[in-house]
Amino acid sequence: MKAVVYQEPFKVTVEQMPDPKIEAPTDAVVRITTTNICGSDLHMYEGRTPAEPGFIFGHENMGIVEEVGSGVSKVQVGDRVSLPFNIGCGFCFNCERGMTGFCLTRL
Ligand SMILES: [Zn+2]
Ligand SMILES: [Zn+2]
Repeated sequence: MKAVVYQEPFKVTVEQMPDPKIEAPTDAVVRITTTNICGSDLHMYEGRTPAEPGFIFGHENMGIVEEVGSGVSKVQVGDRVSLPFNIGCGFCFNCERGMTGFCLTRL
């Protein structure tokens, strides 16, 4: 897959990266169909907030689930999903009630 990689303020490159894979039972691999540049990417791009060279930009995406880990039960292969910046675990008290923006394990 290709990724936008931060190099230094006002310099990013598009590089070939390894394809993602399932590493934990709660992982899912999503084929990205749409993404964008977020305001927080621009803060890093312009040097207002710190970023290490090699950091991959792009954290708000949409796509199609291609693979899921053995512990994933709420999405399945073929589902179209939207991936906001705030990632919830899906199994804590708040996530179970649909309040993934208040996840207790991803603080
Ligand atoms: Zn963002
Ligand atoms: Zn949670």
